[in-house]
Formats: sequence, structure tokens, C-alpha cells
Amino acid sequence: MEKVDTVIIGAGVIGLAIARQLARPGKSVFVLEQHDHIGEETSSRNSEVIHAGIYYPSGSLKASLCVRGKALLYDYCDQHRIPCRRTGKLIVATAAEEIDQLERIHVQATANGVRDLQWLSPEELKEKEPVVTGIAALFSPSTGIVDSHTYMQTLFMEATQNEAELVTGTRVLSVTCYNKEDGFLVTAMTNGETYQFQSRTLINAAGLSAQQVAADIPGSVPIPPLYFCKGHYYSLQGSQQPFHHLVYPVPERNTTGLGIHATLDMAGNTRFGPDTAYIDKVDYQVPAEAPESWYAAIRRYWPALPDGALQPAYSGIRPKLQQAGEASRDFMIQGQETHGLPGLINLFGIESPGLTASLALAGYVESLLEGQDPREHLQ
Ligand SMILES: Cc1cc2nc3c(=O)[nH]c(=O)nc-3n(C[C@H](O)[C@H](O)[C@H](O)COP(=O)(O)OP(=O)(O)OC[C@H]3O[C@@H](n4cnc5c(N)ncnc54)[C@H](O)[C@@H]3O)c2cc1C
Repeated sequence: MEKVDTVIIGAGVIGLAIARQLARPGKSVFVLEQHDHIGEETSSRNSEVIHAGIYYPSGSLKASLCVRGKALLYDYCDQHRIPCRRTGKLIVATAAEEIDQLERIHVQATANGVRDLQWLSPEELKEKEPVVTGIAALFSPSTGIVDSHTYMQTLFMEATQNEAELVTGTRVLSVTCYNKEDGFLVTAMTNGETYQFQSRTLINAAGLSAQQVAADIPGSVPIPPLYFCKGHYYSLQGSQQPFHHLVYPVPERNTTGLGIHATLDMAGNTRFGPDTAYIDKVDYQVPAEAPESWYAAIRRYWPALPDGALQPAYSGIRPKLQQAGEASRDFMIQGQETHGLPGLINLFGIESPGLTASLALAGYVESLLEGQDPREHLQ
């Protein structure tokens, strides 16, 4: 039976970043992906925002991996000429009662090491975004956007240059028979044909299927519950592109989303969303008409939004670890210290800011595998 050093299940941005991190000549690293191309699930269904690390609870993996990952990602994009832009982001208060919340966000950001936020008066806001209305705003200069497809392609190319192999159209059916000598027995299927091989190290980066993959691995506990939380996007019809920055409302307290915000893509197009809708099964449909509530939410900061200007774009699904109304949970990255199985890493709940955090997260995983304190990697 074929034996390999490392199997990574999933060629989304996380599996690819880990492949790049672990690949080196003389080491066999295989990335198994059920689809025919890389990044066909959540990694190509997001906002492509390089987040600053503003909102997440202090000390959480989301906060630390985001702040570290943002710096690594900008450097990586610069080195590899991956299209990205430090657009900056505005969080706009439109009512007096939102100012307290904006202040809390500022305090949280500072605690997370995001020390470059700037308060804007209504006049300063108008200077930055003439069409946006607000009574105060926070400006985050380090928030930006990235061409996530070129980024994933570059990760893939770097990994393969270091002898990693990507095997597409291959679904991992089960991972069983763990024993300390041989590691894991992986059963996979390509073109209807089933085959098996052994791997000493196994990285479960299967995104929306991570829990399902882990459930098959004897002794891989605990497995957190998984909830699908869909986010829809609508793009702005016509040639009018009103914003120069990303524009966010002040999120309501204790909600899962950031409010219906405006982001830009690398081509300069404007899109709105995503919202948050818990669903039972994977379904990427987007209704033809944006709900009236979207128009109302956007007009709070952009009153000139024309009727009927929102066109359905796409949707993505967050692998959440909490149900609607429950407190937000952190990324869950499990190594041997959690489940007792050497060589196994499970990645659960890698929702936003997973794209931003990807390079830092890959370093974190390598530290875990090497038995080092992964938090040291974040200093
Ligand atoms: C609506 C939305 C907006 C977001 N916006 C942002 C943002 O602006 N900035 C940001 O930083 N983050 C954002 N994120 C988060 C980011 O997109 C994710 O954290 C990231 O894409 C997760 O990558 P992944 O590789 O874990 O998952 P995925 O991209 O889903 O990859 C998992 C891969 O595993 C494969 N797979 C699953 N099961 C198997 C199997 N059995 N065998 C073989 N292959 C398998 C799948 O086919 C898939 O390709 C957003 C997410 C959503 C949903």
C-alpha cells in the first residue's frame, strides 16, 4: 500500500496555505480535493476582504490569526504580485445611539493590536466618501481587498514547486484504522474507483464537511456541532460605483453579521452583503429580488441608492459552530493535545476571517504538528 507523509483534505484557501507551509523537497504532501478545481466552495464565495482584526474577542484565535495573517498576506501579495488594495474601511454611525457601540468597537480593536483606527467627524467622512451620510465614523486604513483566486493559485504553485501534489476530482470517503506505526488509512474515490493509502499526518481542512470527515476517524473527539449560515450578495447595477472605500454600518450588538455593507472587488465593482441566514442544507441560490429591508439598511448610510439597483450576485455559507442567537465561537483547531492522536489536525468553524488569517493559520498548524506552542508563532 502506498505510504505518504501528509494528506490534506480540501483545496480551499486553508488547505492550500497549509500545503504551501508543509511542502518541501523529499516530503510527500498530497492535497485531495473532491471538485475538479481548487477553491470551489467557501473560498470563492466570500467578500475577499483583508480584515484588520477589529471586532473579534481579545485573545481569540480569530483576533490573533487575523492581525498576524493580515500582515503576512499583504507581504505575500507584494512579493508575488497578487492583486490587492489597501482600500481602507469606514464604519459609519448614522444615529446617536450607535456612538457607544462605535466606541466599544474602537476599544476592542485596540485590545486586538489594531491601533491605526481613526475617528472621523461628519465633515471628514464627507471628504472621504461624499455620498455617504453619517454622524461619525471609524476609519480603518489597514483593511483591504485581495484577488482571492490569484492568491489561491499562487499558494498552489508554490506548494507544487516544493513537490506537493494536488489530486482533484477525488473525494475522501473515510479515514480509519489509526495506529501509531502507520498513521491513518485513507479511503478515497476518483472517477468511481476506490483506493486506499496510508498517511502519517492528516490535515482535515474540509470546510463545510470537516465535521463529517472527523466523525469517521476513531478517537477524533470532541467534534463540535456545525450550523450552516448563508450570506447573500447583491451587486450594484449600472456603471455607477459610488464608493472609494469599504463602507460598513455599525453592527447591532449580539448579532452574528456585520450588517449589510458595501465592498469593492479588484475590478472596482460594488457589491452589498452578506446577510446572515441559518439554513439546513447547502444551497447557493440567491433570490432575484433583494428584500426591501436591504434597501432600507443601505439607505441609512447611502440615501441615494436607486430603487431596483441591487442585482443578485452569489452567496456563501459559513461553517458556524453556534446557532442563531448563541454567542459567537472561535476557530477550533485541534491537534494531539485535544484528541490524543499524533499527526491529526482538525480545523472546525473556519469562517471569516479565514481568508485573511490563512497564512498565519498555516504556521499555527505547523507549530502544532511539531509539538511547539503554536501561540508563539503569533508573536
Ligand atoms: C459569506 C462569506 C464571506 C466571507 N468573507 C470573508 C472575507 O471578506 N475575508 C475573510 O478573511 N474571510 C471571509 N470569509 C471566510 C473565508 O471565506 C473562509 O474562512 C475560507 O474560505 C475557508 O476556507 P477553507 O479552505 O477552510 O474552506 P473551503 O474553501 O470550503 O474548502 C474546503 C474544501 O474541502 C473540500 N472537501 C470537503 N470534503 C471533502 C472530501 N471528503 N474529500 C475531498 N475534498 C473535500 C471542498 O470541496 C472544499 O474545496 C467569508 C466566508 C463567507 C461564507
